[in-house]
Amino acid sequence: MDSYDRLLTYTGGWLDRAGGRRADAKWLDELLNSPGATLIPFWRDQCLVSGDPPVPVTLQAAQADGVVFLGLDADGDGVFATDVSGMEAEQAVELAGADRAVDVRVIVGTLSPAEAATAGYGRGLLHWHRNQRFCGACGAVTESVWGGHHRVCGNEACGRLHFPKIEPAVIMTVQTEREPERILLARHRGSSAGRYSALAGFVEVGESLEDAVRREVAEETGVKVGEVSYAASQAWPFPAGLMIGFRATAMTEDITVDGEELLEARWFTRPELRQYAAANPLGRPDSIDRHLLRAWLAGGDDREPDACRTNT
Ligand SMILES: [Zn+2]
Repeated sequence: MDSYDRLLTYTGGWLDRAGGRRADAKWLDELLNSPGATLIPFWRDQCLVSGDPPVPVTLQAAQADGVVFLGLDADGDGVFATDVSGMEAEQAVELAGADRAVDVRVIVGTLSPAEAATAGYGRGLLHWHRNQRFCGACGAVTESVWGGHHRVCGNEACGRLHFPKIEPAVIMTVQTEREPERILLARHRGSSAGRYSALAGFVEVGESLEDAVRREVAEETGVKVGEVSYAASQAWPFPAGLMIGFRATAMTEDITVDGEELLEARWFTRPELRQYAAANPLGRPDSIDRHLLRAWLAGGDDREPDACRTNT
């Protein structure tokens, strides 16, 4: 499954996160101030970019304030991110020598896989810092430690350690047990007209991932799911997600939707889905749902779905 995982945007393990050395502030400081260091600025979750196609700009270490350590690149040089959200947009753009601020998802099509993954990683980690400035237990100010991978409460009597928050969500292809094989897709409120996508939802407290798959499918469509197997996962730091993809087998086929969150759900055979994909994007280009749907479409048929290649 590993080669498949690596196709997914925002993933790939491009940096050595050097987790065992992050507590060494002196090492991090030397790394930041060495000539090979890369320091990527972010402004309110957005990348600062220049040129066309847009390229994320980098800063000099001297301009760094509130830096987090992302990891070591292939040359062993440090890659860092810093948050310039305290400035107005114009100031931030000028400081960075950039043209503009733009969300990584808007420019992801022109970034390399490593650039996209690093931009998502930096965005997600800095977002957490901006939203964990105070201790949830006692309300005191927290401080960034371990290269920005923890925050610690400044109140000595409390001293609680805070870890970056990740919100797991499951996303699944649900297939019929009976032939012909069909897949369950839905139209969500807020999506473009006529646009179908895979079912997905957040994992709740006290649930396994498999429980969450079965609950979400039942809640959204009334379909009862039996077997659930893992497919792949994708970092989704928008702002704090982790998408965990599954293949699920339906035990029932009758559909009931609430008409609120979900406008409609229906079963597609492979020829029907191929026809749909000829006229519509099959999932978001940067999202795991595209990969899950393409994998399902390719299953049981050697023919790669041509329509999917052209609808990026
Ligand atoms: Zn505290």
